Amino acid sequence: MSNKYCENNNSLSVRLLDWYDSNRRILPWREDPSPYHVWLSEIMLQQTRVEAVRDYYARFLRKLPTIEALAEAEEDLCTKLWQGLGYYSRVRNLRRAAKQIMDDYDGIMPATSHELQRLAGIGPYTAAAIASICFDERIPAIDGNLLRVFSRMTGYDKDIKNTAAKAAAREYYDEIFPKERCGDFNQALMDLGACICLPNGTPLCEDCPWMDFCRANADGTCQQLPVTAPKASRDIEYKTVFLIYYQGRLALRRRPDRGLLAGLYEYPNTDGTLHNSDISAYLQQLGFSSVRVRPLGQAKHIFTHKEWHMTGWEILADEWEEFTSGRPKQHELFLASASELRDVYSIPSAFAKYTSQIRPDYLEET
Ligand code: SF4
Repeated sequence: MSNKYCENNNSLSVRLLDWYDSNRRILPWREDPSPYHVWLSEIMLQQTRVEAVRDYYARFLRKLPTIEALAEAEEDLCTKLWQGLGYYSRVRNLRRAAKQIMDDYDGIMPATSHELQRLAGIGPYTAAAIASICFDERIPAIDGNLLRVFSRMTGYDKDIKNTAAKAAAREYYDEIFPKERCGDFNQALMDLGACICLPNGTPLCEDCPWMDFCRANADGTCQQLPVTAPKASRDIEYKTVFLIYYQGRLALRRRPDRGLLAGLYEYPNTDGTLHNSDISAYLQQLGFSSVRVRPLGQAKHIFTHKEWHMTGWEILADEWEEFTSGRPKQHELFLASASELRDVYSIPSAFAKYTSQIRPDYLEET
């Protein structure tokens, strides 16, 4: 069948695969593309750059080398291995899906995109990536890269985030997809989007194997495409964050099981920007007295739909009256040693500015 946007579909796939053979990125998960490795890498790569993922990927596999090991791991270990990657629901779903694979599929990853989508955290994109790369299923893995390339190749000028755009992209790729090397074709498209048909700024059309077929290149509209609707503005929340040291340990608490950064650990903090004069009163509510206070500066963290604007304080407390009655369990404070901070409790990168200011000399190792 001839694609309505181009003359020669076969030529497109041949050109792209030839380009891929000479230009493919060398990535650790491509060296040994077992279903577990491809799955883990694809989950890590969601919302995260390749360079940032490499070390996490190697460390995760050192600790949890198999689906079985992941299924049996404690949740705190999984989130600790994820610390800094953000979007922690990804690793919780990874662990949940590993349990599903052990319980429902005898420990063997399902081999079709349809079946893969039964697993926690695996949507159409990830299922298509795993099924094509590991099992040569003929299915495009449509993500932001493929949508951008589609929009420019065809001159598609409607909002690329709409469902209709995904359907149009799916139709386009279905027509040009080769019958063999399906995983390579998806990976070639990923590399083309990441390295040549760049998201911001000018795409490197002179290096693109599809330049002769590209509508945007012919029309000079590469920089206008793809079209995306303006993002809604983010809510701003102000917070005051405390690094509280007491008897060689640092105060932490566990966040609620639902909502933003669910189930992770955090430094005690409260809504709003407390002024110096309010700090003692707040610390007394937490049971701390005889305190020395030092400012740690301001920090900002941007989530998808909100921003935290934080002001931090270092607190050295000489007394702590631990009282828990009447507080929800997840809000109970506890004290962590240096080794526990390092190896056990995951502190989200939202608090990175304050994590970097933790004083090892104030902490006992265990
Ligand atoms: S020619 Fe340029 S705009 Fe068109 S697909 Fe290639 S890199 Fe993208």
